[in-house]
Amino acid sequence: MHATAVEGQLEERVVPVETLATCDLCSGGDFEPRRVWRDELLFGPERWTLVRCKACNLYFINPRPTREVIGSFYPTDYAAHLAPPTQPKRWHRRVAAKDAAPISWWEKPILQVRQDLSWYRIPRWHGDGHVLDIGCGSGGRYLDVLKALGWTTYGIEPSPQAVANAVAHGHQAVVGTAEDAPFPDQSMDIVTMWHVLEHTHSPATALANCFRMLRPGGQLSLCVPNWAGMQAKLYGRFWWSCDAPRHLFQFTRKTLGRYLEQAGFRVVKVTTRTGPTSWQRAARHFLNNVFGTKWARDSSLLVDVMSPFCALGSLIRYAGAGAELRVIAERPS
Ligand SMILES: [Zn+2]
Repeated sequence: MHATAVEGQLEERVVPVETLATCDLCSGGDFEPRRVWRDELLFGPERWTLVRCKACNLYFINPRPTREVIGSFYPTDYAAHLAPPTQPKRWHRRVAAKDAAPISWWEKPILQVRQDLSWYRIPRWHGDGHVLDIGCGSGGRYLDVLKALGWTTYGIEPSPQAVANAVAHGHQAVVGTAEDAPFPDQSMDIVTMWHVLEHTHSPATALANCFRMLRPGGQLSLCVPNWAGMQAKLYGRFWWSCDAPRHLFQFTRKTLGRYLEQAGFRVVKVTTRTGPTSWQRAARHFLNNVFGTKWARDSSLLVDVMSPFCALGSLIRYAGAGAELRVIAERPS
């Protein structure tokens, strides 16, 4: 047990932390501190240091809460745990239904914009249609859509309440994490992780486990915040995705690509996106910090206003500087 005592703070508490001696990506051991962040969601008294591995340029929180206590840094009403059932839209069907016709050239830019405006990337039908969503929450945003289109849906999620909801939605869901997901070897056609990898204690272990569960030719589809993106640079420590100590790792196209290749994957596609809620979330976080305002909710009006700009941005993929990295990687046949 270590105390992360903070000078001048009355509200001290003792949090079990662990210190990484070797880099999760390259096994190097020479780190330099680059940032000190506070918890901008639960406002605990601790300060968290983001370090950079000098050998591979990976950024991560060190020291950090142990696996045993990390749950106490998540609010109980974490949005994804409670999402209500979702019905597929027409474009979902067009992309992911088993009998969907090939996509013609003129549909491609339209569907690209659709995909980029959506929080999740909807996959084309693949193999037997077995899909595992890691960090599935209640399944109410993603797995519901795929199940309605004929996919066999599996999920894993640390919150027992969210898993109970996912099972009630008809998904084969279990309690656990990306690192210990127990589904059989080579049992999945698609594995997805939407904003999950940055939360894991070992992305290397998580990706190795994804690789194990995928069939040869199967695809991993994931999204993480882009540490090299324009929002991260513009907002600095006020960027919403700093999110210490929940985001334990910060990735760039390079470090994420190296992680995937080390796990055995072939990287098929890397793009960046900036969703319509992303700018206002970043702005909100910044304003709340600088002016002490308490703007807490996404405004649907602002989402509507931003959507056309995001559609344009999507067509040029933000020239690689969007707020999130979206990756498709394949387990080679
Ligand atoms: Zn390293």
